[in-house]
Amino acid sequence: MTHKARKRFGQNFLQDSHIIDNILMTANPEHGEHWVEIGPGQGALTAPLLATGVKLDLIELDRDLVSYLAHKFADQEQLTLHSQDALTVDFSQLATSSSRLHIIGNLPYNISTPILFHLMKYADHIHSMYFMLQKEVVERICATPGNKRYGRLTIMLQYYCQAEPLFDVPPESFDPQPKVMSAIFKLTPHRKAPVDITNLKHLNQVVAQAFSQRRKTLRNSLKKSFTEAEIVALDINPELRAEAISLTEFARLSNAFTLKNP
Ligand code: SAM
Repeated sequence: MTHKARKRFGQNFLQDSHIIDNILMTANPEHGEHWVEIGPGQGALTAPLLATGVKLDLIELDRDLVSYLAHKFADQEQLTLHSQDALTVDFSQLATSSSRLHIIGNLPYNISTPILFHLMKYADHIHSMYFMLQKEVVERICATPGNKRYGRLTIMLQYYCQAEPLFDVPPESFDPQPKVMSAIFKLTPHRKAPVDITNLKHLNQVVAQAFSQRRKTLRNSLKKSFTEAEIVALDINPELRAEAISLTEFARLSNAFTLKNP
């Protein structure tokens, strides 16, 4: 196909058959499962996915690529092609009550965070997700407390999902080549939330405040919301920085914030 890659759609097409095989082997799609691919592009992952006998929905924004895919996979009955922005897809409409979705994609890097947060709204309808993103973003998503990449994205996504880094993908595996290293990771939505949060907006607010000045202690960074004594009363050391605070501790801060700001 002679398609000129469009930067505004974050198009970097996978070329490396070993990487494609590895992604498929890791995701392990099984006959009869319901998969959704976000941003299929020229179909590098689509063709091997279809070969496994899964039911597959494709969501692609670039209309030229939609026409190409429609032609390329015209004889595939188990395939549904959506010419749509993934950010506007209601994933609950794709899932059925009996089977949760498996989602896969080499995501457009320019809108990776909005896509992930959009998907989190449908976490109850999703069984697992396998995505490729910039390695740096994958490290942020999968970080643990104390890690320099641990931050707001880590906490907000790990509230919904277990996050697991899988393997790196070098720039040479794509055409055109991205400037950065990429990585594959897995998100598995929790069946039960790991912590009880009274108001998710407040969790987001407290976490954003705590990380707005990473180098500062909680006593300073949370000054607007909590006194030092209030932080101590939650059994949290106010001398610590945000990067040392676990999701469980952020949940305590968030719920205390809600009590103070009903
Ligand atoms: N899956 C292909 C591959 O691995 O070769 C293409 C990956 S490319 C990094 C990202 C793909 O997402 C492109 O096909 C692009 O057109 C598509 N895309 C960009 N923004 C999108 C959006 N908002 N919704 C759906 N697809 C989008």
